Amino acid sequence: MSKHPEKKGKLLIFSAPSGSGKTTLVKYILDQIQGLTFSISATSRPPRAGEEDGKDYYFLTPDQFRKKIAENAFIEFEEVYPDVFYGTLVDQIASKRAAGNHIVFDVDVVGGLNLKKHFGQDALAIFIKAPSLDILAERLKQRGTDSNESIQKRIEKAEWEMRFANRFDVVLINDQLEKAQQELKSIITKFLKP
Ligand code: ADP
Ligand code: 5GP
Repeated sequence: MSKHPEKKGKLLIFSAPSGSGKTTLVKYILDQIQGLTFSISATSRPPRAGEEDGKDYYFLTPDQFRKKIAENAFIEFEEVYPDVFYGTLVDQIASKRAAGNHIVFDVDVVGGLNLKKHFGQDALAIFIKAPSLDILAERLKQRGTDSNESIQKRIEKAEWEMRFANRFDVVLINDQLEKAQQELKSIITKFLKP
């Protein structure tokens, strides 16, 4: 073994059913812990108002996305609906890790498990869970960003996604926000210790 092991960043993977509080918690962790960098995914869905190319996502056409798949440019990718792809670019990761940055991923449940499989012990896969489906539904309503139909679809998907929770390294129940934030900070700080 080398006397001077390469200083390589670790990986923090966040997955959750929609409405569990993943965005809120990821934002908190990025604010609170030094040396973290967010992995910007590629997608072929159109940008939403206020989203910027290269900041929120790399926005590609479906054909550009397919070309990158053929070039093996992705660690993992998924076609969520016909022609709507999401994926993690190889390029995004290697240089950031080599510079010693820890990388934060916000991906869906299947993508999260694929990344965990790829990175093994270097990665901590965290599943964020609302205390119950009723509370999840309530939070989605209160967030006010989705139609009733979209909320219903998200709840149905959540029941399916919940079945994958026990394959993650950590299942964090986001009940009282402050408590969940502290718990998460402590788990991550411990994992990132050299
Ligand atoms: P996700 O990214 O998982 O879809 P969000 O972070 O957008 O979820 O959270 C969904 C909604 O619930 C938001 O309006 C957020 O402010 C709220 N929220 C997040 N965590 C809690 C919590 N612990 N208690 C109450 N509301 C919460
Ligand atoms: P949105 O369209 O709301 O930005 O994201 C939809 C879903 O795609 C979310 O669950 C998000 O976590 C997931 N997602 C974003 N980037 C990636 C990625 O690179 N890979 C995978 N598998 N899912 C992603």
